[in-house]
Amino acid sequence: MTTPWGLPDFDQHEAVHFITDDACGLRAIIAVHSTHLGPAAGGCRFWHYAKDEEALVDALRLSRGMSYKNAMAGLPLGGGKAVILADEERAKGTDMLHAFGKAVEKLGGGYVTAEDVGMSVTDMIEVARTTKFVAGLPNSAGDVGGDPGPHTSLGVFLGIKAAVKWALGKDNLSGLHIALQGAGSVATGVALHACAEGAKLSIADVDEEKAKKLADRSGGKVVSADEILMLDADVLSPCALGAILDETTIPGLKVPVVAGGANNQLATEQDGERLQKRNILYAPDYVINAGGIINVCTEYLGDGDASLVRHRIEGIPRRLEQIWSEGAETGRDPASVADAMAQRLIGRA
Ligand code: NAD
Repeated sequence: MTTPWGLPDFDQHEAVHFITDDACGLRAIIAVHSTHLGPAAGGCRFWHYAKDEEALVDALRLSRGMSYKNAMAGLPLGGGKAVILADEERAKGTDMLHAFGKAVEKLGGGYVTAEDVGMSVTDMIEVARTTKFVAGLPNSAGDVGGDPGPHTSLGVFLGIKAAVKWALGKDNLSGLHIALQGAGSVATGVALHACAEGAKLSIADVDEEKAKKLADRSGGKVVSADEILMLDADVLSPCALGAILDETTIPGLKVPVVAGGANNQLATEQDGERLQKRNILYAPDYVINAGGIINVCTEYLGDGDASLVRHRIEGIPRRLEQIWSEGAETGRDPASVADAMAQRLIGRA
């Protein structure tokens, strides 16, 4: 792969916008990977990065992931992502959110934003005061819109069930042990669906209070954030941050299945193969976690109702099975198979 700008993750991005606004302290990056299939859609992350370079790499990787995710979910959307660099000195104020909205507006619809880690529906209401290219806004009962988290959780839950069926031959999660990394929005929905089906949960979050609350609601057990990846369980469900599966963690995994909602779980391309060599079934992250963007897309385009959103999310297990099946036939690992499929769909094969 060529590395223009000295950035291995650049991967032919159509554009990368750097935004600063001294008045409110906004520093943001909007990465537009591809508009081949439609406007580049992907959430905005508000996060504290140790170095600016880390924010750029995160934006690039997340943005390419959105191109792949949208294409694999069959949505008429390209891929993009924004990150706002959190600053300990300055809070995320409404002026900052308005300035971010203005920057999105200036792109004329080439990028459509929504919430991601660190951003809420309330924040999106503020962003929407200065741009119309935004989704994830509050909805009235029965309408499409609102927090994408629960829709992501539903897709992840259905994907976990498909993975368990594929790898372990089980029709449901009853009695299975799921190690859940994270106790935020996506993890909460996954935990509640899984416990309703009789799964046993171990839950870890760097914010232990959150882990405790979710464990109370789901009958799960709290474990430390350091332990969760190495638990002996049936499924590891990473639902926190990315790059947690690498050459140091994969050898220590004690699960037959990795299926979770976090974006960019594999630190490098080689990690898909590492999982395969250990006979661990992997559900490619951008395929299993597409439920939220499916809801966002239906809200933004106004082309369907809640039952269409549900129907589209129920298509996630089929897409995963297609990937695992092609992997079984060709000997390639699921992450590589998914990348190749997505690249074909966005015309970059
Ligand atoms: P969230 O902010 O609600 O929750 C993330 C949680 O992870 C937080 O509670 C945080 O404390 C915890 N965490 C961070 N580092 C951790 C670590 N090392 N160990 C354990 N816990 C840790 O975010 P979310 O919306 O639930 O998103 C979770 C993941 O899913 C992210 O990677 C996000 O990009 C991805 N995702 C979210 C959506 C969505 O609809 N919200 C859609 C697709 C993908």
